[in-house]
Amino acid sequence: MLYAGGCLCGKVRYRAEAVPVNERICHCRLCQKAVGAAFNARVLFAGADVVIEGRPAWSHSSPDLQRGFCASCGTTVFTRRLSNGVVGVGSGTLDDPSLFRPQMHIFTSSKQPWLKLDDRLPQYEEWPPA
Ligand SMILES: [Zn+2]
Ligand SMILES: [Zn+2]
Repeated sequence: MLYAGGCLCGKVRYRAEAVPVNERICHCRLCQKAVGAAFNARVLFAGADVVIEGRPAWSHSSPDLQRGFCASCGTTVFTRRLSNGVVGVGSGTLDDPSLFRPQMHIFTSSKQPWLKLDDRLPQYEEWPPA
């Protein structure tokens, strides 16, 4: 499957022709802040599978996790975990967001209270069991 997408203004783009590592919806507070929304629905890839075009700016939201965003338009496009190299892309940045196939909700302990989940996907208060 080819996943392609980018930021709002188009200066930061990516392509990944790969099977994702996983596809999750994260409700943690760090994601809420970083994307400015109730949750972060993201597709995770092995880092080597993601080709980034343009020059995203990177900011740490925790020692192991960086968020990559477009310095021109401000869109948060990526997450990058330093310990294992995985790269996530926000489903809203995909050229075709319908490619996103969520597998579970994680960190529902900080899910926003008005949000009702009725999609029958597994829900985990923090990380899922390994
Ligand atoms: Zn941009
Ligand atoms: Zn999160």
